[in-house]
Amino acid sequence: MTTDLAITSQQVGQAAAALKKLRPNYFALLNFYEKIFVAQEESKSQIKIDPLKISEEMLAVKKRERFSLIDISEFRVDLKAAKALLERICEIVEAANQEMAEPARTIRKAMAAGILDSPSIFTSLLKAEDAYFKKVERDHGIEKKALAFVGYSSIKPSVVHCAEQLATYLDESPPWEKGACPICGSAPGFSLFENDGQRVLFCGFCWHRWVAQRIYCPFCENKDSNTLHYYFSEEEENYRIDACDSCKTYIKAVDKRNLERLIYPPLEFIATLHLDIKAHEKGFKSGIQLELQ
Ligand SMILES: [Zn+2]
Ligand SMILES: [Zn+2]
Repeated sequence: MTTDLAITSQQVGQAAAALKKLRPNYFALLNFYEKIFVAQEESKSQIKIDPLKISEEMLAVKKRERFSLIDISEFRVDLKAAKALLERICEIVEAANQEMAEPARTIRKAMAAGILDSPSIFTSLLKAEDAYFKKVERDHGIEKKALAFVGYSSIKPSVVHCAEQLATYLDESPPWEKGACPICGSAPGFSLFENDGQRVLFCGFCWHRWVAQRIYCPFCENKDSNTLHYYFSEEEENYRIDACDSCKTYIKAVDKRNLERLIYPPLEFIATLHLDIKAHEKGFKSGIQLELQ
């Protein structure tokens, strides 16, 4: 069964249909994200980016020092594909999401008028240039939250494409025993337990997946079982929150054991927003920037 991100837009539809049946409360939200994810998968199949190259010497250093392969700012973006996707995503947001409809319309119009240019949005996101977002908010009244969401959603196919290409450098590597992504160094945003119980973490930025220890906090590297807990409810025993008392951070997980349906992790992440609320109520914080997802 497919569990990684190598999935067709048609399979995203299948995964979404199964989830909508299971979680009718999420129907509208899943419809919205299904459109976004389908648009991203369609865009990803068209992406053309020159491969990121890492020299043998550099690779040896990175492996020895346990550094991630690149920094987020080094991701390459297919500007043409990302711009087309940005326009498409703005349309989807305008049609479906009341809260962000107005900013999405403003973004699309500002782009059409040449006031906003998409490469600047993408570069500022990857380089975390907050001054750019502040300026856009001040000059055009577009909130960072909306611009970051549509911007990240538009470059995600390029980012995932680069991460998949870079992952080949890790083929011969020993198991990655760190909490941050071996590709880009970001914190994990979601996790999964395979049929055999193996724990997998997904990067909160590039969605690269890697195997992790079961009793382990990826945010502070805590391995003390007395201060690591997990929560789940009997009505949905295939989802859980793994939380750490030491750094008060949590991560959500889907447990694939006894699950027959197709799993697309970004959709599972959305279909479990109630778990984020539960975790916050218990005093835990998310390890990633939730507004990008
Ligand atoms: Zn990553
Ligand atoms: Zn921790």
